[in-house]
Order: sequence, then structure tokens, then C-alpha cells
Amino acid sequence: MRLAYKERIATRLTLVTAMIILVVFAVIYLVANFTVIRNIDRELGLETDKHKDQIFLVNGEIRFLHKDEWQEMEHSQIQLNPIFIEIVDLQGKSMDRSPNLRENHLSFSPEKSSKKEAWTLKLGESEVRQMQIPLFTSSKHEGYLLLAKSFDDSRELLDNLRNVLLILYPVILLSLYLSMRYLAGKSIQPIQQIIRKTNQITQSNLNERVPEAEPNDEIGQLTRSINELLQRLEASLNREKQFTSDASHELRTPLSVLRGTLEVLIRKPRTSEEYVEKIKTSLSSIDRMSATIDQLLALAREEKGKNLVKEELELITFLEEIVDQTSLEQGRKITFQSQSGIPIYVKVNEKSLQMILSNLLQNAIKYSKSDTDILVKTGVENKIPYIEVCDIGPGISAAHLGKIFDPFFREKEVVDQLIPGTGLGLAIVKKLAMESEIKISVTSEKEKGSTFRLDLPLS
Ligand code: ADP
Repeated sequence: MRLAYKERIATRLTLVTAMIILVVFAVIYLVANFTVIRNIDRELGLETDKHKDQIFLVNGEIRFLHKDEWQEMEHSQIQLNPIFIEIVDLQGKSMDRSPNLRENHLSFSPEKSSKKEAWTLKLGESEVRQMQIPLFTSSKHEGYLLLAKSFDDSRELLDNLRNVLLILYPVILLSLYLSMRYLAGKSIQPIQQIIRKTNQITQSNLNERVPEAEPNDEIGQLTRSINELLQRLEASLNREKQFTSDASHELRTPLSVLRGTLEVLIRKPRTSEEYVEKIKTSLSSIDRMSATIDQLLALAREEKGKNLVKEELELITFLEEIVDQTSLEQGRKITFQSQSGIPIYVKVNEKSLQMILSNLLQNAIKYSKSDTDILVKTGVENKIPYIEVCDIGPGISAAHLGKIFDPFFREKEVVDQLIPGTGLGLAIVKKLAMESEIKISVTSEKEKGSTFRLDLPLS
């Protein structure tokens, strides 16, 4: 059986409280029992001391000194807590006893007299506490004095206390369980509201939020966390929508160019030069589409490549090779500078780092004038190895610095100047860098140039 949350809380708290109350009640009862018995025993001790001097020996038998006074007292007074007294010889044979004992005898046990301790026993219908001391006349052991005091009143008091505690125990626990269940139910009410609201939120109304009722407590924090999660989900869904629409747009543009060119071509017979020219235009549209598709595939592939193999790599040699090769292939002067006199070892996935640098170098070459220098710098700063790719190009406006890593983002000037590109290069760079735990940052100033910096994990 599955208990509701409020019932689980109430049950657990009640169980704990039940144990605590049980211990408290047991202590109360034991302390009361101990105190009552100690008081009776103290009185018994005093009475014993008082009566042991009122005994004398006659004809070898032990007797009370003023027994007639006792008898008279018994007839004239109603004693609430009478003292019962009996004298026995060394064998336990009764010599004399107080009249209130009537036909009853107190219990004799020789081994208890040495310790002067009391014990409880039944005397007829009632219960008594009894004490026993040895009797000496001129240092000769003659017998024993037995003294008892009624325990009935104390027993009644203790029984009443026990009954009250036994009745109170379930009553307290039941009322505790019910009130805790009620309070727990009340305190989780806001959570039920959150459940109701979150159940209503679907993809179509992802812009709605859970109302924040109690902003400063844990429930307020939970509401805020859910709302932030919804915010992230909404943003990611919007990004995905944007990505799909941008991707279709990117593919549709060269497709329309291709279609237009071919339509123009079949309208009437053309000269072979015209055919060559139109086919060249068509081929460049196809190239543009396949470049976009390649980059889209690269983006999709990296999403799965979470567990990249990282190997140790010496940065200076690695960069020198890349710089030389790119410079040769692209016919651009690229300068390499190392700020470190000793080799720099890093732990990265070589292919990823190669692709990141290739994209950054392509951009630097593409966006800066062909007569300007491109600089690749490396070194170690605060024990962190870094690579910088710097160009003296048009720079990126501050407003766009946060956007250049978004898929398909291209600055308007770049599009207007018909500089080829898909807007996917830096998105791929960002993904690869995140997977390889490389921190990427950019500083740029309009008309001065841009510097892309990579902070790499140390080997
Ligand atoms: P693409 O180069 O294909 O347009 P990227 O994702 O590589 O796509 O770059 C996104 C945008 O960032 C570019 O369109 C350009 O506006 C800007 N950008 C990137 N690198 C540079 C650079 N080195 N200098 C100036 N602008 C740059």
C-alpha cells in the first residue's frame, strides 16, 4: 500500500514521538514508585527504632511493654495507616503481636534482618511493606522485631497514575497523528499547485510559468528552478526551430539559383559559351549546398562525440606544422610566435584541435585583406597553455560578439560584401571546444582586427 506523503510524514513523526513519550511515561512511573516506597521505608525505619526500646523479656519470653495502651488506642482512634508489629523468637515462633494484626502473622525471614531492608508482601486482603530487625537483651540475641505498614494507599496512587498514563498514551498519539497529518497536508498544498500547473504546461504553452507564491523558502526555490528549467527548454526549442528554418533557408537559396539558371537555359537554344557559363553558376550553387550539408553533418556528428579520445600533444611543433601547411595551401603569410622557450604539452583530441584551428584560420584569411599579416601565438599564462589566432581584419562589432557562435549567424556587412560562408564554422568550433574542455574567447575591435583565444587543458 502506498501512503500519501502527508501520511508518511505523520506516521514517521508519530512513531518517533511514541517512543519518546513511552520513555518519559516509564520514567515518571518509576520515579513515583521509587519515591513512594522510599518514604514508606523511611517511616518504617523510624517506627522500628521507636518500638525496639518498648520490649522486655519475661520468663524467657519477649513481650511489649505497653500493650494495654495500644489496645485502648486502637479502640479510641481510627488509624488510617496502621503499624503492624510482631515479636518472634530465634526460630520465628510468634511471642507477641499488635492487636491490629488479629489472626494474621507477619512473615519471618532471618536472612533479611541483617540489612535492615524492607519488602512488600500480602497480609490477608491488603498489601504491606515489612521490615525486620534482631532483638538483643544485654548483648544476647533473643529474637526479632517485625514491623509492617499498609501499602494500600500508595498502591492505589501508583495504580491510578499507571492507568492515567496508559489512557493518555493512545489519546496523545492519536491526536498527534491527526494534527501532524493535517499540518503536513497544509504545508504540501503549494507543491500540489506546482504539480497541477506543470501538468498543464506542454510544448504549445511552454511560455507559461508556475506562479511563485512563497519566494523565500524551499518551495519558492523549487518553483524558481522549475521556471528556469522551462525557460531553458523554451530557449532551446526556439533555437532548434530557428536552426531548422535557417538550415532550410540556406539550402533553398542555392536551390532556387540552380532552378532559375536551368529554367533560363532550357527556354531556347544557347551558344556553347552560354552553356558553360550557366553550368558553372549551377555548379557553384551545388558546391554551396554541399558545403552547407557537410557542415550541418559535422555539427550533428559532434553532438554524439562526447567521449573523445584525448592524447598528449606538443603544442609548438603541432602549430608550426599547421601554420606552414595552411600558409602554403592558401597562399597567405601566417606568422607563428611561441612565448615559451620549452615545449608545451597538452591533453586534447588532435583532430578536434586541428578542425578548430582550421576554421579560425579560414575566417582570419577570409575576412582580412590579402596583404595583411595573420599571427598565430602560443604560450603558457597562469599555468594554462593558450593559442591565439590574430588578424588585422574588419573586426566584429561588440553587439555581435555574443552571437557569432550561433549557427547561421553572419554579420550583415559580410553578407553584403558577398564573402562566401554559411555561418556554421564558429558553431562547429564552439561545439568542438566544449567537448575537448577548451575555453574559447574572442576580443575584437571594428576596423582593427580580431583575436580568437583558446585556453587548453594542461597535460
Ligand atoms: P562564416 O565564416 O561561414 O560566415 P562563422 O561561423 O565562421 O561563419 O562566422 C560567423 C560570423 O562571425 C561571420 O559571418 C563573421 O561575420 C564573423 N567573423 C568570424 N570570424 C571573423 C573574423 N576573423 N573577422 C571578422 N569577422 C569574423
